[in-house]
Amino acid sequence: MHSAIADVIVIGAGLTGALIAARLAEQGMRVQVLEAYKAGHGATRRALGLVTPDPQPAHFAQTRQSSERLKQIAASFGALRQTCDVLHAASSPSAQRALAQLLQTTDGLAWLSQASDPLPGGLSGGLVVKAGAQIDLDYLIIRLLRRSGVSVRQHTEVLSLEIDEASSGVFVMCRHDTYFAPRVVLATNVYAGALSPYLAESLRPARGALWVSHPLAPSALPALLLRQPVVIDGGQAALLPSEDGRVQAVAWFWQTQDLARDPLVALRDLLRRFGLGEAAQTSGWHATLTTTTADGTPLVGCLDAKRRVLYAVGLGIYGLAWAATVADQIVTMTLTP
Ligand SMILES: Cc1cc2nc3c(=O)[nH]c(=O)nc-3n(C[C@H](O)[C@H](O)[C@H](O)COP(=O)(O)OP(=O)(O)OC[C@H]3O[C@@H](n4cnc5c(N)ncnc54)[C@H](O)[C@@H]3O)c2cc1C
Repeated sequence: MHSAIADVIVIGAGLTGALIAARLAEQGMRVQVLEAYKAGHGATRRALGLVTPDPQPAHFAQTRQSSERLKQIAASFGALRQTCDVLHAASSPSAQRALAQLLQTTDGLAWLSQASDPLPGGLSGGLVVKAGAQIDLDYLIIRLLRRSGVSVRQHTEVLSLEIDEASSGVFVMCRHDTYFAPRVVLATNVYAGALSPYLAESLRPARGALWVSHPLAPSALPALLLRQPVVIDGGQAALLPSEDGRVQAVAWFWQTQDLARDPLVALRDLLRRFGLGEAAQTSGWHATLTTTTADGTPLVGCLDAKRRVLYAVGLGIYGLAWAATVADQIVTMTLTP
């Protein structure tokens, strides 16, 4: 008979793992989080913190609802920096058609036309999506993980898992220790494949590059950008102004494109188009991996019929918009006998 370290072990302390851990603890469970590096070290660390629904028509309604939930959670912990409208803009006719389709099928969106409000950077028009937000992710994760019922071990990389049929639980093997619990949740994002080949096949890596400017004078920025964050071509790139005059920008490469290409090149192109090239002086360039799926819906489920190993990975580039829904799904699966 093995003694369990907790009711549930959550592997990975990014936004997904932290939210799942806190939600399970809320239900009275004892949760042990194991994190290979430091909490919030993965894709979450590089995220812009911009909460906006996924503009794909098939995902918009669900992610809008989930975004609202995350905003409420963040506000309750004092991690909601500000709410803001987000401009989803297009730089190509196909991207513009996708936004037009969203406009036709969804309430509460306004079309911003080039004629009434000139857009910078060769953008041709866009949708204003109300009530986006900026979240302080570092702070949110710390607060979620401090919830009573949640314990965290950092610098504890999980190397393998083994379901123990006799005791109906899972051994979690790390370099120096082995832990045991009735249930395990993988919230490991890009590293999920190291623990499960099945998940490796279903996930696609996406490389994101993040750039942060030094504080800029308002005159150095396009007027539109001063008012709101801009998301371009369904999320291929985004620009986020901050109150302190810094601008953060992100650009992506997908697995279907040439992953060897440097996403920083795309980011530099974007910045030039917005007149933010060398003059803005960069304070940092970073490229980071995250994962997405073929249809853009996160992978949430279980690896075994008795639901001892659950997973929540592949949250993609709208991870913040999906996170609350994904955490709910894991909580439901965990609580259902
Ligand atoms: C540059 C960039 C900008 C982004 N901007 C936004 C944005 O503005 N808005 C938005 O909605 N989304 C954004 N995203 C996407 C968002 O960051 C991700 O969807 C989200 O952070 C995924 O969170 P996660 O917890 O699932 O993964 P991660 O944050 O990657 O967390 C996984 C954690 O698991 C740990 N781990 C992995 N393997 C193991 C193991 N074997 N043992 C123990 N621990 C392990 C890792 O160390 C890591 O801490 C951005 C992503 C990037 C890369």
